[in-house]
Amino acid sequence: MKYDYLIVGAGLFGAVLAQQLTVANKKVLVIERRNHIAGNIYTEDINGIAVHKYGAHIFHTNDKTAWDYVNRFAEFNRYTNSPIANYKGEIYSLPFNMYTFNKMWGVITPQEAADYIQKEKNDSKIQNPENLEEQAISLVGKQIYEKLIKGYTEKQWGRDCKELPAFIIKRLPLRFNYDNNYFNALYQGIPVSGYTDMINRMLEKTTVLCNTDFFDDKEKYLDIADKVIFTGTIDSYYNYCYGHLQYRTVKFETEQKKCDNYQGNSVVNYTDRETPWTRIIEHKWFNFGKDKNGNAVHGTIISKEYSTEWTPGEEPYYPINDEKNTELYRKYKELSDNEDKIIFGGRLGEYKYYDMDTTVISALKLAERLINQ
Ligand code: FAD
Ligand code: UDP
Repeated sequence: MKYDYLIVGAGLFGAVLAQQLTVANKKVLVIERRNHIAGNIYTEDINGIAVHKYGAHIFHTNDKTAWDYVNRFAEFNRYTNSPIANYKGEIYSLPFNMYTFNKMWGVITPQEAADYIQKEKNDSKIQNPENLEEQAISLVGKQIYEKLIKGYTEKQWGRDCKELPAFIIKRLPLRFNYDNNYFNALYQGIPVSGYTDMINRMLEKTTVLCNTDFFDDKEKYLDIADKVIFTGTIDSYYNYCYGHLQYRTVKFETEQKKCDNYQGNSVVNYTDRETPWTRIIEHKWFNFGKDKNGNAVHGTIISKEYSTEWTPGEEPYYPINDEKNTELYRKYKELSDNEDKIIFGGRLGEYKYYDMDTTVISALKLAERLINQ
């Protein structure tokens, strides 16, 4: 059977693209090597709790098109992410806001907090921040850097803060008010019935084969459709001919607990260097302790997250956009620019730190281009 499009990967990118192409009357086949759809946003219902199997996912965006699109396939709750930091037993509010500054220095007014940070910045004599450490100290001062950033970042990235690019820390809001919403986003929430259900609805009119790896029969799959959209790692497609792109990977230790409330918040970051995990997620609070029908859930499920260097064969999570990997990606991209049958998309295909909303937008744009071709 010949298809118009073969989509490799049933993650968010592949699902949005498949949905759009299918309603445009294209013949589409999706193959997925895992035994389930939804890629890294996969959630599994365990005792009424939607467990985020590959890490906590909160949909947040300023883009109305992305928000309206996902709301067609799921009912979203009004979850607002407000993680807290645990530094050796001291609890701080995140992202950095007046609650954090008050607890750290006892300051009351925004001006006092700003003055405190300015003084620490002046003491550090940093003019043009060139790495994450310098950027962080310039933004929030040395004490916050040492208690809330240094240990967490070095655990998460496995590198010294002086070797990391400054832009990573600019993702975090810095506010001189008492707003502890982690994201500067107009729209935010989590599907009440879990992300897997949302992806299932996107794919309901498309043929999907799970447990099917493109590389099990590359020639057959290249021949099965007029065009192939590949959302796996770009270097794997080229058999790592220039070497492996690097990633960080995350390992999860998930435990069911008998108590109803383990930590009182969905996300607690452990920001000291000694605690081996980066954070603990308590999944039930992503839906206010309720199951998808609105009934209170008894017991709880937590996941400890450990961030480690990726080795071939493991799940790749975060692309490492340092100079070496950016250059390596550029070489693979050059190869892909000469293809006319295969298009690379998504977080792994484009080696980009895409959030869910940018993944959706990128897939919608590609679909539009393909449909209008
Ligand atoms: P993926 O979900 O990785 O899908 C790619 C799919 O392709 C996978 O299912 C894979 O198995 C399949 N595949 C690969 N190779 C092959 C092959 N050879 N044959 C067949 N199938 C193959 N974004 C947010 O907006 N909010 C968040 O809170 C958030 N939290 C995150 C937390 C973590 C720990 C991580 C790592 C990411 C987070 N993200 C978050 C980003 C979000 O996960 C991505 O934007 C999204 O998953 C990207 O979808 P994708 O389809 O590009 O990739
Ligand atoms: N970060 C930190 N302390 C925290 C939370 C975040 O130092 O408690 C830093 C860390 O370097 C991280 C960056 O801020 O990589 C961006 O944080 P975000 O929560 O966006 O990271 P994500 O897990 O989404 O990549």
